[in-house]
Amino acid sequence: MEIVRTVADLRKHIALWRKGEVRVGLVPTMGALHQGHMALVEAARAECDRIVASIFVNPKQFAPTEDLGSYPRREAADLDIPAVDEMYPPDFATLVRVSGLTGGLCGAHRSGHFDGVTTVVTKLLIQALPDVAYFGEKDYQQLTVVRRLARDLDLPVRIAGVPTVREPDGLALSSRNVYLSAEERRIAPNLARVLRSIAAVLAQDPNAVAQEIAHGSAALQQAGFAVEYLEIREAESLAVTSEVTASSRVFAAVRLGTTRLIDNMPIAPAAP
Ligand code: AMP
Repeated sequence: MEIVRTVADLRKHIALWRKGEVRVGLVPTMGALHQGHMALVEAARAECDRIVASIFVNPKQFAPTEDLGSYPRREAADLDIPAVDEMYPPDFATLVRVSGLTGGLCGAHRSGHFDGVTTVVTKLLIQALPDVAYFGEKDYQQLTVVRRLARDLDLPVRIAGVPTVREPDGLALSSRNVYLSAEERRIAPNLARVLRSIAAVLAQDPNAVAQEIAHGSAALQQAGFAVEYLEIREAESLAVTSEVTASSRVFAAVRLGTTRLIDNMPIAPAAP
C-alpha cells in the first residue's frame, strides 16, 4: 500500500498506473475503518487492478450543529488524515448540488449535507479518475445521489453499490456505533429488526404502507429511539411510495441518545 497526501501525488501515481492496462477502483470513506468499508474494498479488489481508498473527514458534509468535532478519527489506524486545505483551499468557492433527490430523507434533516457529499465526491472522482467507484447501500440515498451526479455530469465512471454489512445481531456497521453506550448498543439492533418486519409485511401486502409506517414508528419509539423519519420510497427516484413495487425500499433515521443511526432495506413483494 502506498500513502499519498496531496492531489498532485495521487495524480502522479495514477498516471503511472494508467500507462498499463489497469482498472482503477475508488473507495471514498471518512476513515474509522470497519468491515463495512472493507466490503467496499473487497468489491473493488474483485473488479479492479488498483484501488484508491480515501479517508478524508469531509467538513463540508457536516452541519454546524453536527458531530464533525467528535467524529471518530483513528489516525494511527487509518493513517494520518490529509490536511483540509489540500481539498479546500481557503478561497474554495464551488458547490456541486444534486437537486430533487436530496430534498427528502436525510436531506430534509441534515442541512447542506448532500451538497458537501456531492462536492467532495466530484473532487475525488476527478482527482482519481477511477473506472469504478464503490459506495455502500447503508447510505442508500447517498448512493442514489452519486449515481445521478455521475450521470448528469457525464463522468466516465461506474458507480457500484455494495450491500450493507451488519453485526451478527443485525445492526448495520457504522463509524458512529462507537458513540453508543452499552445500553444503547443493546437497543440499536431493534432498528434493523423493525425495518425487516416492515419489509416482510409489505412484501405480502403492498397496500399496507400507511399501517406499517404507523406500527413501525410506534415500535421504534417503544424500543427507545426518537424517529427522524421512517418512509417507503422507490430505489432509483427516491419517490414516496404508497403502494410497494419491486424496487421499493424502507428507509429510517433515528436517534438513540445523541447518536444518529440510519438504515434501509429492500422490500421484495411476493410474486403474483
Ligand atoms: P463513511 O466512512 O461512513 O462515510 O462511509 C464510507 C463508505 O462506506 C460509504 O459508501 C458508506 O455507504 C460505506 N459503508 C459504511 N458503512 C457500511 C456498511 N455497514 N456496509 C456497507 N457499506 C458501508
